[in-house]
Amino acid sequence: MPREDYIATIGLEVHVQLKTNSKMFCGCPVKFGEPPNTLTCPTCLGLPGALPVLNAGAIEKTILVGQMLGCETPEVVKWDRKNYFYPDMPKNYQISQFDLPLCLGGGVPLYELAYPKDFQKDIVNPGKSVELTRIHLEEDVAKSTHHDDFTTIDFNRAGTPLMEIVSEPDIDSPEEAVAYLNSLRQILVYSGVSDADMEKGQMRCDVNVSVRKKDTDELGTKIELKNLNSVSTVRRSLHYEIGRQIDELDSGNAIVQATWRWNDDTEQTQIMRVKENADDYRYFPDPDLLPVKTGDFIARVQTDLPELPHEKVARFESDYQITHYDASVLASDGALAEFYETAATGAKSPKKVANWVINNLLGELKEREIEVSDCPIAPEKIGGLSDLVEAGTISNNQAKEVFAALFEKPDANPAAIAKEMGFEPADSSEVDTFIDQAIAANPGPAGEVAEGNDRAANFLTGQVMKLSRGKANPKQVTEAILAKLRG
Ligand SMILES: [Zn+2]
Repeated sequence: MPREDYIATIGLEVHVQLKTNSKMFCGCPVKFGEPPNTLTCPTCLGLPGALPVLNAGAIEKTILVGQMLGCETPEVVKWDRKNYFYPDMPKNYQISQFDLPLCLGGGVPLYELAYPKDFQKDIVNPGKSVELTRIHLEEDVAKSTHHDDFTTIDFNRAGTPLMEIVSEPDIDSPEEAVAYLNSLRQILVYSGVSDADMEKGQMRCDVNVSVRKKDTDELGTKIELKNLNSVSTVRRSLHYEIGRQIDELDSGNAIVQATWRWNDDTEQTQIMRVKENADDYRYFPDPDLLPVKTGDFIARVQTDLPELPHEKVARFESDYQITHYDASVLASDGALAEFYETAATGAKSPKKVANWVINNLLGELKEREIEVSDCPIAPEKIGGLSDLVEAGTISNNQAKEVFAALFEKPDANPAAIAKEMGFEPADSSEVDTFIDQAIAANPGPAGEVAEGNDRAANFLTGQVMKLSRGKANPKQVTEAILAKLRG
């Protein structure tokens, strides 16, 4: 049976570490890269008799995410013990939320630029939003590191507030899964609740995937892929796993429900364990923690909901008259969006400022491996540089030289640099003489301009630019030529 006769169904469970000062149930600081087991106390070590105390900031941040994604928050939520035995959780249960999580429903909009670059022309369902099942809050476990014949455990991570975002099986392709993760990350970073950096383990992902024949409604048996630690791993492992399941079904074999993992060396999925029944964690309400009323939290976050990325795109399009694509690029990163807004505010042409930022600044920063937030040039200077071109003080090519010089002297003023480089506007009577010379020397093209040929006008402008050694403003020269020849 050809592969087009099968449909894949994908759901994602994403764990996100919240950016809080202290842990979920104790006062230990949340920090990365500290010596192992230095950020601990009896509570996060799970010592007998230690009692948990709720981190209100973590609850507020989770509700904030829920409000941004259109989730419902129950009036009262509670905490449950998820029981299992493993060295990364010495009290033998993890405090989580079972039947009354902080957020229910909602959805994640898939942004065009969040799809893989090579796929953005082939988006099947533009404007799609992936439905969410729930978002709950729990404590992270300790980090185990497996050595040759022993394992070490670092409890610095144990107790970090961890938000679990569970999607419905509403994702149709590996590329949509990529778009989902990138869009979700963008929203989380925008709202300031997490840096959501997958490489640092701040965002981790498990995937459920099944395939079924196109003419059936019943979902196929699902396979869980555990601990995928990058967006590209999610895409590659899903492509592999979907192909594997189709091959099995084509050969007449049944899919056995199981947990698999991705092997980055062999570029294949491999089985970890077969799941005959659903895991039984014997959830029960944690007697050490009271249920939480959510009304005050909701009221507080609603007064100051951050703008969502797609809302920012729409505002940029209307406020600055830039294209949807440019607005999407600028809004794809919070720091970049802020840089652009500061640069464009008060500038003569916000559209030209967008061109400068996207076409020149981003490339230069990438080459120098500098983040936008660390850009040495203040945004106002990019606005000022664009204004110099708009006012006809310098040409576009001269502006590029001033831009390069700004990187060396970020404190200098673009106008001062232009002057220092000798980029002064050409004397207008001198330019007028050059125009007359160019017309006299090129009677053929001049005649064509008179008859309405714009390309001939560009040719004459080029001649004048040469005569003025690049000092004349090409836009003004073209206008003057047209005025002279067409009246
Ligand atoms: Zn602690």
